Amino acid sequence: MLNSWRMSTPSLPSQSAEDYLERIHELIEEKGYARVVDIASSLQVRQASVTSMVQKLGELGYLNYEKYRGLILTDKGRAVATQIQKRHETLSRFFSLFGLDEETQRHDIEGIEHHLSPETVEILSSLAKFFESNPETLKQFLKSRKPRKD
Ligand code: ZN
Repeated sequence: MLNSWRMSTPSLPSQSAEDYLERIHELIEEKGYARVVDIASSLQVRQASVTSMVQKLGELGYLNYEKYRGLILTDKGRAVATQIQKRHETLSRFFSLFGLDEETQRHDIEGIEHHLSPETVEILSSLAKFFESNPETLKQFLKSRKPRKD
């Protein structure tokens, strides 16, 4: 199973819960609040699904609903969201090395990030650092991918 490693990391309940926490955190950072309607449109799910996931995340202690402020992340929720965000940044740093456009990157990262084990993310992070400190090696690699012109 793709998510079997997750059993040893109880802080992250499920792939889709990660998506929600990530997006709620982004919306709050961007706009100061996260409305159900914005979460739904950004994740392309129904508002009813958002409501039930928000309820579940609330029960698990990741967020709270306050009458005037709306959804807020608890310390636990913020810690997990920050961790998810950091992982996204690591992947983005890695994919940027190869000149992929931002839209492709974002789409692909969203598709894979919740399936990667911490070990794999760590390797990609090291690889990004390695290429960053060895730009000649990166150039050589990029050059090797260009179609031959002979
Ligand atoms: Zn992400």
